Amino acid sequence: MNTEKYSSRRKLFRVLGPILLMIAAYLVITSIGEFFSLSHFEQPKKFHYFFIAMPFFLVGAALTNFGYMRSVADYTAREMAPVAKDTVNYLLKETKPGVESLSSALRGESSKITCPKCQEQNDDDSKFCNSCGTKLALVCTSCNEVNKPDAKFCDQCGNRL
Ligand SMILES: [Zn+2]
Ligand SMILES: [Zn+2]
Repeated sequence: MNTEKYSSRRKLFRVLGPILLMIAAYLVITSIGEFFSLSHFEQPKKFHYFFIAMPFFLVGAALTNFGYMRSVADYTAREMAPVAKDTVNYLLKETKPGVESLSSALRGESSKITCPKCQEQNDDDSKFCNSCGTKLALVCTSCNEVNKPDAKFCDQCGNRL
């Protein structure tokens, strides 16, 4: 194989690929921009740009991929793998409490307990106020479940508190 010819072709692909991708992006942005600026009864005139953009995008992506393939593969192996691993770990670690607090927020629960006496915000598993020591939770005498301080009955076993 003629490596010089091969590398000059790669150089061409490296230029051509991103140009095609930019054309595709321009076409998509134009058609979407028009789409959102239209009033309800107007017919979109540039909507077909979106479909014209598709072959540009596919060819551009293929050329870019081919032109940068080796360097991207090297870069990926050297730089991206540890970053990707860290990112995934970070996301896994960060997402869980985030999802939990989001879901409790969606259920309309606060993850904090407001002290009835001094209005201090305490963690929802606190039994006594951080600030004034007021009792924040009722522990069920029957099953030891921790209930809200204003609960009348245990939410675990129904025992009168
Ligand atoms: Zn308090
Ligand atoms: Zn109970």
